[in-house]
Amino acid sequence: MKIKSLIRTIPDYPKPGIQFRDITTLLKDAEGLRLTIDQLAARYRDQTIAKVVGIESRGFIVGAALAYQLGVGFVPVRKRGKLPGEVLGHDYALEYGTDRVEIHTDAIAPGERVLLVDDLIATGGTAEAAVMLIRQLGGEVTECAFIVDLPDLGGMKRLAALGLKAYALCEFE
Ligand code: 5GP
Repeated sequence: MKIKSLIRTIPDYPKPGIQFRDITTLLKDAEGLRLTIDQLAARYRDQTIAKVVGIESRGFIVGAALAYQLGVGFVPVRKRGKLPGEVLGHDYALEYGTDRVEIHTDAIAPGERVLLVDDLIATGGTAEAAVMLIRQLGGEVTECAFIVDLPDLGGMKRLAALGLKAYALCEFE
């Protein structure tokens, strides 16, 4: 598949033993970028989505382009302390320690149908934290979309356990 073949693997990044799936090689390819956004847009065009929520930072690239194609607004979920307005935050566990994601409290109206987007799902911890924020604001997560799924790390199952649908354009072992 064209999209998968354009994603590069960097061994031992950001630490030894990790195979980092680098989507910058997909993004810099005009056809690859277009295919990525077009495939996602085709899937979500008729789903009456009100907002696309993208997770910092690669989720912003995919999410903003997708929101533009769908003709809807874009909402960023950011790491702690980056958003200027009033925020709602959610802490989540990392392998070592915790991290926190935040969203503006006025970013989503109650009842709005939201599509959550990130470049990649691994354990699903980041996506789950973003889902918690959206749900706390009263938004309804219609689906979570990714370019890459790492099925061995179980993120999709974790989202399914929350009653969520999830979709990825390709998988890596
Ligand atoms: P999770 O929370 O599902 O374990 O990790 C997913 C988050 O970490 C996403 O925001 C994603 O951007 C980032 N991430 C983890 N591993 C990789 C990787 O191999 N490649 C890329 N591009 N992002 C990764």
